[in-house]
Amino acid sequence: MYRSRFFTLLAGLLLAGQAAAEWHYEKQAIMGTEVHLQFWHEDEDKAREISRAVMEEFHRIDRALSPYKADSELSAVNRGAGAGKPVPISAELAGIVDKSLWYSDRTGGAFDITFATLGSLYDFREGQQADGATTEKLLPAVNYRHIKLDRENRTLAFDDPRTKIDLGGIAKGYAVDRAVAILQHYGIQNANVSAGGDARLLGDKRGKPWLVGIRHPRDKGKNAAVIPLEDTAISTSGDYERFFIDDDQHRVHHIFNPATGKPTETDDRGNENDNDKLISVSIIGPKGFDTDPLSTSVFVLGKQEGLTLIENLPGFEAIVIDAGHRMFFSSGLQQ
Ligand code: ADP
Ligand code: MG
Repeated sequence: MYRSRFFTLLAGLLLAGQAAAEWHYEKQAIMGTEVHLQFWHEDEDKAREISRAVMEEFHRIDRALSPYKADSELSAVNRGAGAGKPVPISAELAGIVDKSLWYSDRTGGAFDITFATLGSLYDFREGQQADGATTEKLLPAVNYRHIKLDRENRTLAFDDPRTKIDLGGIAKGYAVDRAVAILQHYGIQNANVSAGGDARLLGDKRGKPWLVGIRHPRDKGKNAAVIPLEDTAISTSGDYERFFIDDDQHRVHHIFNPATGKPTETDDRGNENDNDKLISVSIIGPKGFDTDPLSTSVFVLGKQEGLTLIENLPGFEAIVIDAGHRMFFSSGLQQ
């Protein structure tokens, strides 16, 4: 009796000593979206330090790459690179532009950071879009081939003075990878980091998989699917995050077809039989730096070409929803 009570007491003390061993949560508005962080750590004080370090990294990337901050490196490049003289850039920006160009080549130009030449004229909150004449005039300046990246001297130039770039289709995936690198540096083994539609999972949820919801593209607050995942990245692109419906009843959203210089056509009305237009695309793969540009790419390419692209990329899977609200999976998810 005495013995068992002693052990109960001992167990109680041990538990008390580890009371801080738990999940830690942090949420902040950064990069125009909500950044969520969840990780397991034994020590409360250390956990606070780790949270701060991760969030500071998101802020740092936002300060460097935001098109909305006049003093970001990206804004400086957009002001200078079209002026006829190559602009020196950081190794980080060079790496992200290099990756973007790789995906432009790989997707036949569906992924193209020069969409911003026209995209920067849109304001989804204000319901503002480029008119037809402006679109026609600037369309030739939307082309990744205008980007001259000198990898050796680390400079960037645009050979059309009107060209602008925006890294909104790749920066959040890059940032969640950076966050995971920091968590790993601190020895964290179980974490979930997301920035809007881009998430990276480190390990599992201590004995069970993380459950990642894919939002229903037309029913806020509902999930279209919940996917159990561990140790991977998942990025979702949709036409429902940033959009407005214009006077012609068109859904004007934030994913652009570089071939037209306009948001891709995704209107539901009358599209029940259109089996190629997509309204939601999720890509699963090792790194956000790849799943993020791939989700945008597959969205632009449409169901057939998009799924073919993913089938030809080992290590990546796709879950897509078409305009008729039907869900499709790449072959690796079809068991
Ligand atoms: P989210 O920003 O909601 O995570 P995505 O990953 O789909 O969504 O990225 C959409 C963003 O990508 C847009 O807000 C824009 O900044 C950028 N973008 C839009 N169209 C293209 C495109 N064709 N190629 C590259 N980037 C794009
Ligand atoms: Mg993306």
